[in-house]
Amino acid sequence: MTSTRSALDADWLAICRRAVGGLERMLADVPTTKERALETGTRGSGGDRTLEIDHNAEQLVFDELDALREEGYRFCAVSEERGVIDYGDHEVRVIIDPIDGSLNAKRGVPSYALSVAVADGETMADVAFGFVHDFGPGEEWWAWRGQGAWLDGAPLDPSLKERRGRDGRLEVLGIESADPRWIKASIEALQDSAYRLRALGTIAASLCQVAAARFDGMVSLRRSRGIDAAAGQLIVREAGGYVSFPWCDEALSAPLTADPSSPVIAARSQETLATLERIPT
Ligand SMILES: [Mg+2]
Repeated sequence: MTSTRSALDADWLAICRRAVGGLERMLADVPTTKERALETGTRGSGGDRTLEIDHNAEQLVFDELDALREEGYRFCAVSEERGVIDYGDHEVRVIIDPIDGSLNAKRGVPSYALSVAVADGETMADVAFGFVHDFGPGEEWWAWRGQGAWLDGAPLDPSLKERRGRDGRLEVLGIESADPRWIKASIEALQDSAYRLRALGTIAASLCQVAAARFDGMVSLRRSRGIDAAAGQLIVREAGGYVSFPWCDEALSAPLTADPSSPVIAARSQETLATLERIPT
């Protein structure tokens, strides 16, 4: 009989790196937009039309999870296309977005990311490990709860502060869910908050920019999904930043699911977080 082991103790960094290697090879085989735009004809559990690259990326990650189960680890997985998959233990949850920023991946725009989080509960506050690999710059971000956050193996400096212009506005603010209609609805608050906006097109990588204080904050203008933000939000917090999901009861009570719940807001200070929380309409 195989003994069962807590999946919190697995070597998640090695697992995620193997998945990244698989995704890189898969994407290299389909380099053009024409190939990457092929759809499977189905929709993911979050409602988006599924691209073949999303489907194949998810399969590569689930191959790693299948191997983990063979080794005796028990958990459940929550993923963009498949929803919740039972691997024998609902206490430990693995939250996956195989490609966050699929539109960028499809069009060959640099930032798109694999996002993997491991949690011992059902909300953002329960995430113990977060991993984001941004395939554009080839950057690897990860964090362990209570231990800090790293970029390409170097610890991120939790003391880094935000930068503001002379008029008090943040120098660089990341925005996500950048549908022009939603920008229009939030434009006055954005105008008062930031000197310049940047829209990468991936919530996971955008959060990581706040973790490294490249962005002074980030705001999604519409509700984010647990799978998009789970890993990045831990990386921000372990790198000295602050995160909230303002439409939820508590700052970090957003559910670790594939359904949209609340905008995600991140900043380098609590004061700025409170200001940015008022932007999404
Ligand atoms: Mg995705």
